[in-house]
Amino acid sequence: MDFNYSPKVEKLRRQVRDFTDDHIVPRVGEYNKEVHGGQFPVSFMEDLKALAKSEGLWNLFLPHLKDDEPGTQLTNLEYAPLAEIMGRIEWASEVFNCSAPDTGNMELLHMFATPEQYEQWLRPLLNGEIRSAFCMTEPDVASSDATNITTRIQRKGDDYVINGRKWFISNASHPNCKIFILMGKTDPDADTHQQQSMILVPSDTPGVEIVRNPTVLNHHSPAGHSEIVFRDVHVPAGNLLGEEGSGFALAQARLGPGRIHHCMRSIGAAELALEMMIERSQERKTFGKYLHQHGTISEWIARSRIEIEQARLLVLKAAWMIDNVGAKTARKEISMIKALVPQMHTTVCDRAIQVFGAMGLTPDTPLADHYTWGRCLRFADGPDEVHLQSIARLEIKNSKANLGSTAAYLTPPDRT
Ligand SMILES: Cc1cc2nc3c(=O)[nH]c(=O)nc-3n(C[C@H](O)[C@H](O)[C@H](O)COP(=O)(O)OP(=O)(O)OC[C@H]3O[C@@H](n4cnc5c(N)ncnc54)[C@H](O)[C@@H]3O)c2cc1C
Repeated sequence: MDFNYSPKVEKLRRQVRDFTDDHIVPRVGEYNKEVHGGQFPVSFMEDLKALAKSEGLWNLFLPHLKDDEPGTQLTNLEYAPLAEIMGRIEWASEVFNCSAPDTGNMELLHMFATPEQYEQWLRPLLNGEIRSAFCMTEPDVASSDATNITTRIQRKGDDYVINGRKWFISNASHPNCKIFILMGKTDPDADTHQQQSMILVPSDTPGVEIVRNPTVLNHHSPAGHSEIVFRDVHVPAGNLLGEEGSGFALAQARLGPGRIHHCMRSIGAAELALEMMIERSQERKTFGKYLHQHGTISEWIARSRIEIEQARLLVLKAAWMIDNVGAKTARKEISMIKALVPQMHTTVCDRAIQVFGAMGLTPDTPLADHYTWGRCLRFADGPDEVHLQSIARLEIKNSKANLGSTAAYLTPPDRT
């Protein structure tokens, strides 16, 4: 087992790191000022994207990038350490056209789009000309069980007609979000996992209404986690993605890569929080000692280092598995990182906030934003508990083949 990054990845890490240090970190203040002043998208985003694209630091997330598609093709394992660097700043991944939910949507379209859908939606997404959203969750049903969703997609003549309400739809309020991938039911009477389909809905279709953009933990995201009503929304039948009834299978295909990207970026956020915690603890003194000289704080530092390393190794293993055996076979590893990494992300950020004192809660550090996002990730793409349930189910299923094999390790008491 070789724990080193390859020379190719080392070179790209340097490039992404240098780009981030030279062009993104210096703009954090400007970004916050513009966004809090109501300017969104920020004025310099398109320039930064163009620069990253010209340097080949583009679409790094897509392992099956074709020759005529812009960007650099990498495996998931190669991409992981680059996504980690992007995760240090909340909005950095957009600069490299590697941000959620576009990455998951592009992967899905890459696998299932018809040539017409490819030209109309995937090509502009790959070029970074438009943004997208993924609409599954609904306010009226427990959406961590996707079989519950009720939005209807009904065939009428040459169209499909959509009626329903979605919420927490990330990116839907981005002014450049032009396309929604929506999951709904085409046949509520079919077998449980064949009732759902996915369909492409241009965001300006009549009947689509963004009714609000709720804050999360009182944090306002201008791109939104929006609530959207679909009222008699007509789209051409050719907008169906895949076959009727294949929605559930498509959702599974999308969520594998999407989940791992979030986890990769979380490692970067946690790493930054730890770096900040360590620096701060060497700057301030209480009761005659630097903060890191107090046992509690040094334990937090040590535990954070251990937890980040554990998480990174598991994420790299999951990435390797997706590359080598596919997301379906790697589903246990994907659930494992999804249940582990956002929790680690919030724990490390929470410790860093505490070490910073009250300042940790203010916008003067990125810690509050990183904490909030880590907390959100414990829901986005499925809550922790659903992933824990999947892991346990797979473990129990696997154990059935060898049931009784631990009996030899028992030493029964002598009851004679
Ligand atoms: C910031 C953010 C961004 C999001 N972006 C999107 C998006 O772009 N598109 C989209 O479609 N959705 C998005 N979501 C929604 C997210 O996917 C859902 O919130 C999540 O799937 C849970 O669904 P729910 O909120 O309906 O919770 P429910 O299904 O009502 O579940 C509530 C709680 O029940 C518990 N629970 C559920 N199942 C089990 C179980 N098997 N065992 C034990 N406990 C269980 C869990 O604690 C869970 O949190 C986003 C969410 C957030 C917070």
